[in-house]
Amino acid sequence: MPDNYPTYVSYQDTRTKEDRMVDSAFREMLQIYISSNHRKKVEIIERAYQFAKEAHKGTRRRSGEPYIMHPIAVARILVEELGLGSTSICAALLHDVVEDTDYTRDDIESSFGKKIADIVEGVTKISGGIFGAQASIQAENFRKLLLSMSTDIRVILVKMADRLHNMRTLGSMRPEKQYKIAGETLYVYAPLAHRLGLSKIKRELEDLAFKYEQPQKYKEIIEKLSETEEHRESIVEEFVKPVRKMLDDAGFKYEIKARVKSAYSIYKKMETKHVEFDEIYDVYAVRVIFENEDEALEKLKCWQIYTFFTEGHKIHPERLRDWISIPKANGYRALHLTAMGPEGKWIEVQIRSRKMDDIAELGYAAHWKYKTGVQEDETELDTWMNTIKDILAHPEPNAMDFLDTIKLNLFSSEIYVFTPKGDLLTLPTGATVLDMAFAIHSQLGLHCVAGKLNHKLVPLSHKLESGDQVEIITSNSSSPNPKWIDYCHTAKAKTRIRTYLKKAGNKLIVSDEEIKEKEKEKKETEQKNSLMKKILRNPFSSRKKEGERTPGPPIDRKKTFILYPDEKVPNYHIDTCCSPLPGDDVLGFVNEDEEVVVHKVNCEIAMRLKSAFGSRLVMTKWGGNAPKFNATISVEGIDRMGILEEITDLVSKKLKINIRSLNIRTQNEVFTSEMTVIVDTAERVDNLCESLLEIKGVKFAKRIS
Ligand code: MN
Repeated sequence: MPDNYPTYVSYQDTRTKEDRMVDSAFREMLQIYISSNHRKKVEIIERAYQFAKEAHKGTRRRSGEPYIMHPIAVARILVEELGLGSTSICAALLHDVVEDTDYTRDDIESSFGKKIADIVEGVTKISGGIFGAQASIQAENFRKLLLSMSTDIRVILVKMADRLHNMRTLGSMRPEKQYKIAGETLYVYAPLAHRLGLSKIKRELEDLAFKYEQPQKYKEIIEKLSETEEHRESIVEEFVKPVRKMLDDAGFKYEIKARVKSAYSIYKKMETKHVEFDEIYDVYAVRVIFENEDEALEKLKCWQIYTFFTEGHKIHPERLRDWISIPKANGYRALHLTAMGPEGKWIEVQIRSRKMDDIAELGYAAHWKYKTGVQEDETELDTWMNTIKDILAHPEPNAMDFLDTIKLNLFSSEIYVFTPKGDLLTLPTGATVLDMAFAIHSQLGLHCVAGKLNHKLVPLSHKLESGDQVEIITSNSSSPNPKWIDYCHTAKAKTRIRTYLKKAGNKLIVSDEEIKEKEKEKKETEQKNSLMKKILRNPFSSRKKEGERTPGPPIDRKKTFILYPDEKVPNYHIDTCCSPLPGDDVLGFVNEDEEVVVHKVNCEIAMRLKSAFGSRLVMTKWGGNAPKFNATISVEGIDRMGILEEITDLVSKKLKINIRSLNIRTQNEVFTSEMTVIVDTAERVDNLCESLLEIKGVKFAKRIS
């Protein structure tokens, strides 16, 4: 403090250090709101903050922070990352008040109005988690979620921000809770985020869930990405250099971003395509975002930039994607191309205006940003929301059917078809002529007799493909019969036909095929359920007879359970569906006899168990000395003199691993071999594969069993 500083300032800050931290977190959030384009409704936000702070007073999160830090963080995500305004901010600040404190919906309504109270109530209703103990509860929660979403989309946006913050702070949760929350995130929230076009949030949710579900794999990919970062950047920079010049010369205001695929999408690709990290070509991607004042020139500018890339770069002929003329169902618009970059690497380029980019990253939330007061055309996303409303208005009686219908609508990809006049329709993959007729108009559907596709008549049940131009042929004498239900794929058409048949007094509203189908489904569900029961029941039942089982002492689910593979009778049971080995990322389920059944974390059965029986989860780790086990590795490569000797040398002499068997086949200079080794941990096998790949000529080395 300078000497001449007046010492008579009597203002005293009586707040504690913690109060100050909370207040400054709130001020920061408020500042972001104030500097946005929204109307400055600061007063109501201040009040919501004081209200929430008072309501949560004295409670803390698991991390030890004052609870109010969470609602503030959720509000910040909404304003900073989704660009939403005061109503959403207030709802976010208050979102846990009704659930966790004594205040009621009415209290919120009387202080903040109906809109905010509605959103808070919507978020509260869906807070029980999507996954209950049974499918029916699961369906009911899912229904609630979608119902509240269709009344005010901001409910789901607040819920998304809430989930995102919980995922970001998942580290302080108990491990078995981490699995449950991460599993639910991957199962419901990430796909929903995708469907709503919230791609930035979707990517982060997936990466966070991946990080907690498979920490080892996540780490490997993140490390590889950072190792290759510098090289990647130099390649991209060299690639865009000539384009930058052309953009500058043409007077564009723009930004070029080198984009990296997310860790989770890289992992998914490696798994589904069975490729290694280095073989994923589209790790390289570039995005050009340009500022655009004149809407009318937006399209033209995209194509102009496209030509900048065609000059001097080789363009991949099959990878041009025009999402400008035909936007994706979630509202996404952009121009994609793939061009040959330095070192012969293909680089994907996305060209977008600033507005297109906002819509791509924020999806539905961007509507608030660009709301002009003028009624815009109904977007594809609005259409989808209306479909959801439609399904909710005509619910399927069976909970399982309902779930399937919804999930079909969430995950299915779309086809684009045209009417004879050239109007574009988006339909789910698998849609038929009849679906298209109903999508255009119910009356058209009800009197449809056939379709005309490329001058050829096709039946009602004909499956459509993207790009088809279809004319619907109708006849006034035609009307639905029960068979029609089998001819269509969309929920809308099925519901309309059923309603018609019911009204027409037709008792036989279910066709034979449908009955058969239902029976088949029922059988499958029963089989699945009995499998689940088996999994959860005593896995040692072969050793003991039914009825003789005596449950062991309860297992503490909050503690990490250590697996001792070297004990005479191991203290756990390995499940045969995925056969985890010591060293694999694993998790345990406590069965009815209080025994721990071990699965790999990415095992499909484990995924199902996780979502349905999260409370039986127990975190597990390998301990003790693992006994030796056999692992078979497949090795492939280009044959050359002495390569076999190098391989065996590496394994037995350098790494001191016993080879149990080795067979090798050579065909036209390519060799394939299978080697069985005796090791003690899965890690040893992974290391072995890595070392094998370093041998010149070896192109592939992976554990196959
Ligand atoms: Mn919350």
